[in-house]
Amino acid sequence: MAQKIVAGNWKMNLQFDEGEKLVNEILEGKRSNSVSVMIFPPALYVQHFSELGDGRISIGVQNFHVHESGAYTGEIAIPQIKSAGGSIGLIGHSERRGLFSETNADLKAKVDAAIANDFKFIFCCGEPLEIREAGREFSYVKSQLEESLFHLTASQMAGKILAYEPVWAIGTGKTATSAQAEQMHAEIRSWITDNYSDEVANSVSILYGGSCNEKNAREIFACPNVDGGLIGGASLNSESFLEIINAF
Ligand code: PEP
Repeated sequence: MAQKIVAGNWKMNLQFDEGEKLVNEILEGKRSNSVSVMIFPPALYVQHFSELGDGRISIGVQNFHVHESGAYTGEIAIPQIKSAGGSIGLIGHSERRGLFSETNADLKAKVDAAIANDFKFIFCCGEPLEIREAGREFSYVKSQLEESLFHLTASQMAGKILAYEPVWAIGTGKTATSAQAEQMHAEIRSWITDNYSDEVANSVSILYGGSCNEKNAREIFACPNVDGGLIGGASLNSESFLEIINAF
């Protein structure tokens, strides 16, 4: 069975003491143990928040470099992240793709670096507005997966975490309807079945991301192929993030 997950992507928000308060409130307010909670703060908070979380929540990074060490000023390597307690990384967020020109080939290299370093990741995919308006969202998302992820073997693919995040819904307040989310998630799962097997497809968690909040999470999470959410804006406030976690 796919793991149920609620993950918060803080992006470049919150000062250290604000973040620390938020983590403590999440730890105090989290009720269910059947949902895995992950937080992606700015990387320099990872060590302290991992110590605070003490295994009750996972602390991850929003980005990492493909090389393990060397002359890459400003970058962070997976072994460094692991040595500071970080246990997971985001790959392919639309802001990395759009603002930092990360291509499907770049993301494939990050997937390979994560696999080589036994490092968990959430692989993000999703179409921009013009692609949906042209009716090409399924082929677009399928290409993202084929060019960056589907080269993995079945045993590497088993249990992986994907996030479908339509770009037009990120930070815009415009959520995909639960029907639109379910339709894409069901397609993604069927492509995993086609490339691997039903068993692998059912082990993969597919999260929805894009203006998911405490008001719409319950309806979106009720969709059979939605295994949780990757939350941006609503993860910056403990009340809304806890309501989303407790929406399962
Ligand atoms: C995100 O950045 O991954 C995201 C889903 O943001 P928001 O929830 O703010 O749309």
